[in-house]
Amino acid sequence: MNSEHAPHARSCGACSLCCTVLRVDELKKLGGVSCKHQCEGGGCAIHATRPSICRAYKCLWLSGGLTDDDRPDSLGAIVDILTVGAETRVSIQEATPNAFDRSPRLQEIAAQYRDAMPVRIVEHGNFLDPDRPYRVLLGDSEEHRVRGQWTTVLRPGSEPERRRLSAFERLARRIAVWIRSRKISGMQRPEDRS
Ligand code: SF4
Ligand code: SF4
Repeated sequence: MNSEHAPHARSCGACSLCCTVLRVDELKKLGGVSCKHQCEGGGCAIHATRPSICRAYKCLWLSGGLTDDDRPDSLGAIVDILTVGAETRVSIQEATPNAFDRSPRLQEIAAQYRDAMPVRIVEHGNFLDPDRPYRVLLGDSEEHRVRGQWTTVLRPGSEPERRRLSAFERLARRIAVWIRSRKISGMQRPEDRS
């Protein structure tokens, strides 16, 4: 976050979107809430002592992906390529409501990747919800809209199909949601930001 050590010509500059959009457990900072250490116009007031996750983090753009014009504050979302368990996916985390649907460039990026790997779009808002809804774009124009234990599968030319997680998946989900709830409880609330 606000790294000055990019391995190439790009630098964060005035962007500090990750300092708002991402959760920082060390600071008890909720995802979607501006960090209390963010400076006006970008930058970090505790740069020398910022948490290790802030030092390590580089979004896809800062890592050299996308195009020069795709800095996250221009895109309105943070784009990462993440490996979670056995899955590698593109993550698009919106910085403003409906950023993905309003941005032809974000949609273009998703279209470039979705045949190769799932593209998960985390919606802006519901920051206190440990079970936030999300969408997954897949190849062949298939889209999954995940709301709790239900997934609506959308395919061109077909009726939407609702699927419920299996009993085992529901149990795993309940455990995951409980763990996320524990992490979120006690974090800085949006109203705590002065
Ligand atoms: S979102 Fe990317 S470019 Fe913006 S401050 Fe964070 S690491 Fe830097
Ligand atoms: S501590 Fe600094 S780098 Fe880390 S989230 Fe806050 S403002 Fe960003």
